[in-house]
Amino acid sequence: MTLYTRLLLACLLCVSATSRAAAQSKSAPSDKFRQLEEELPTPNDYRTASGAPGNRYWQQRADYSIDAELDDATRRITAKEAVTYYNNSPDALNYLWLQLDQNLFEPGSEANTTRAAPSFTPTPEPGDEYTESRRIPYATLDRLLASETFQGGHRVTAVRDAKGNPLRFTIVRTMMRIDLPAPLAPGANTTFSVEWNYLINDAKQLGGRSGYEFFPRDGNYIYEIAQWFPRMAAYNDVSGWQHKQFLGSGEFTLEFGNYRVRLTVPDDHVVAATGVLQNPQEVLTAQQRQRLKQAETAREPVFIITPQEAKQNESSKPKGKKTWVFQAENVRDFAFASSRKFIWDAQGYNVEGNRVMAMSLSPAEGEPLWSKYSTHAIMHTLNVYSRYSFAYPYPVAQSINGPVGGMEYPMICFNGPRPEPDGTYTARIKYGLISVVIHEVGHNYFPMIVNSDERQWTWMDEGLNTFLQYLAEQEWETNYPSRRGEPQNIAEYMASEAQVPIMTNSESVLQFGNNAYGKPATALNILRETVLGREQFDFAFREYARRWKFKRPMPADFFHTMEDASGVDLDWFWRGWFYTTDHVDIAIEGVRLYALDTRDPEVDKAAQRKERESRPQTLSQQRNAPLPKRVDEFPTLKDFYNTYDEFAVTERDREEYQKFLQTLTPRERELLKSGMNFYVVEFKNIGGLVMPLILRVDYADGTNEEMRIPAEIWRYDNFNVSKLIITKKEIASITLDPHLETADTDLSNNGFPRRPVKSRFQLYKERVRPNPMQREQQKQQPEAPGKP
Ligand SMILES: [Zn+2]
Repeated sequence: MTLYTRLLLACLLCVSATSRAAAQSKSAPSDKFRQLEEELPTPNDYRTASGAPGNRYWQQRADYSIDAELDDATRRITAKEAVTYYNNSPDALNYLWLQLDQNLFEPGSEANTTRAAPSFTPTPEPGDEYTESRRIPYATLDRLLASETFQGGHRVTAVRDAKGNPLRFTIVRTMMRIDLPAPLAPGANTTFSVEWNYLINDAKQLGGRSGYEFFPRDGNYIYEIAQWFPRMAAYNDVSGWQHKQFLGSGEFTLEFGNYRVRLTVPDDHVVAATGVLQNPQEVLTAQQRQRLKQAETAREPVFIITPQEAKQNESSKPKGKKTWVFQAENVRDFAFASSRKFIWDAQGYNVEGNRVMAMSLSPAEGEPLWSKYSTHAIMHTLNVYSRYSFAYPYPVAQSINGPVGGMEYPMICFNGPRPEPDGTYTARIKYGLISVVIHEVGHNYFPMIVNSDERQWTWMDEGLNTFLQYLAEQEWETNYPSRRGEPQNIAEYMASEAQVPIMTNSESVLQFGNNAYGKPATALNILRETVLGREQFDFAFREYARRWKFKRPMPADFFHTMEDASGVDLDWFWRGWFYTTDHVDIAIEGVRLYALDTRDPEVDKAAQRKERESRPQTLSQQRNAPLPKRVDEFPTLKDFYNTYDEFAVTERDREEYQKFLQTLTPRERELLKSGMNFYVVEFKNIGGLVMPLILRVDYADGTNEEMRIPAEIWRYDNFNVSKLIITKKEIASITLDPHLETADTDLSNNGFPRRPVKSRFQLYKERVRPNPMQREQQKQQPEAPGKP
């Protein structure tokens, strides 16, 4: 609504003063710009207030030497590991905690016993009022029953010290405590060994971040093996020993170290793993080794095992076993894949001087999609991510197709999308594959190298990674159909009811994908494009990645670094986007025009007359107009006021105007004649999130102008603000958030004047189903002959 008001210049000052009314009242306290100090831990020598590791920062280290055998007949892993644990903390440790993640699959695991009932939602058929069918998918029932019978879980058969003496150990759900004979002093290290075995889960049936897939067509398996060895739980300055049990959603809190792993598998299997293969002469053919050499400098991916060769291998029978040896330096985990079904392609890729081998392994079921896109997507990821964070430091990066939909490990990841059996595919599958490869390879940066605590904070790796995934997707092709990153894509979630703040523990997050992936990724995109600008954001984000590379950052370290390196206080942004469930819905409530009186009677009185004449005649005035009037019947009743024209300019008016002008200074006279219009635009914060105001002003003369007002405009009043636009032009319309960059959930209140929100709908006919009597009658009347 516009309110046309005329007033004196002096009064304008009053208007801008009243718009500064403070909202920090006793009745309605709101302080969305309050500093986060009360929420964040006190900085110390381990983690500074600037967000960098402190001068006494420390982290533990664990080196592993593992010998494992994969039995294809029983689908069991049997293994032994020697762990050397370095206590770099300032604390003496009486015991060590390890993670036994396979215990997730024990029938009585916490994950199984605390699983809520599936939703038996009634889904009545349209038009059917007799039955109320309740449905759950076959796969859900299959998984529920299998999880109660599958004998999964780590069977630990021995724990010994370096001399072979047994060590006392206690298993607590998905964790194992080893009691040390003497405390492990600060700076000391200890070596111990563990022997164990476990049954591999059917990942297609039971789900999981690893497992096997059976192919009935050729009777073969693909194994994607992870969370497979007892891993050192993290011990750190924030949580002590990591003690959040593995429930399935919260991923892993791990230490860096070096790995030497010997994997014994059927001799016709091909193995891909974290690290570099140490014995290619023993496990690869001369031709495969020669192709690998050629791939190092190739300009396109080269087949190490061609689709035809992989097809032949499907009918192979093993003659014995082979042991593949891998070495990996400075990684926080180790995973591998094994099968006789694999097609294998590779290409060397130079990341700022580091020659990386990008490789993909997939079965025939992945063709023709996998050999076309997977390795290209790996190299593209290394290129984009390295520019926004740090150069990829590892020697290989691999993408494997198997039963797992998408899961990341150092130097290797598992990705699920496949075409139809006939080799055709939808656009969704094609872009789904490219996106998941980018995402999972991207996880090498967050959290495999920037080692955030996934068990506590899913957003720190998924959110940051999904943000970079979006940047990489948009550099793949123009208008790449990214699911997450664009502000408008998160708007519906932001306005939804059942949700928790981003700063919620991984196991308690509702709407996981939106909360931990989509919302933080979008928040960072908005921070980059709308709040900080690309240059400042990119500098700060890179600083964060480099500061915490191969270290363990916490949320405060990210928040602090982004402010410290950009020079901008972002506490309002973290508070709103990460600590609340507020959403963005800002409305233009109204626009008022204050036109400046010239004090020149010739001008002002003419304007007043125009305004008077433009007022609408009321209904009564219209109907009363033709009625005979008494003063017309008796003209003598008329006097001065019956002809007086209040808008006529008198000589006296002109004199007074001249006198008034004499009292003004030249500058005041200039202001008076400026001819400016004063538009006051009023905004209301409906969603709760304070955000910058992005305005496009369209003028009546066809020109337009864009205004970008920082979020700090809300600092005195978090819910109502007004902005003064001074212009000689007439404003025709104003649009808030014209480039859809703030995730505003309701665009219908973003325009002045209001415009209809466009959408389309279709008419449809309700299907009428026959009632049981009609169905019975239809059965008794066979269809007329000749009817198709
Ligand atoms: Zn992820």
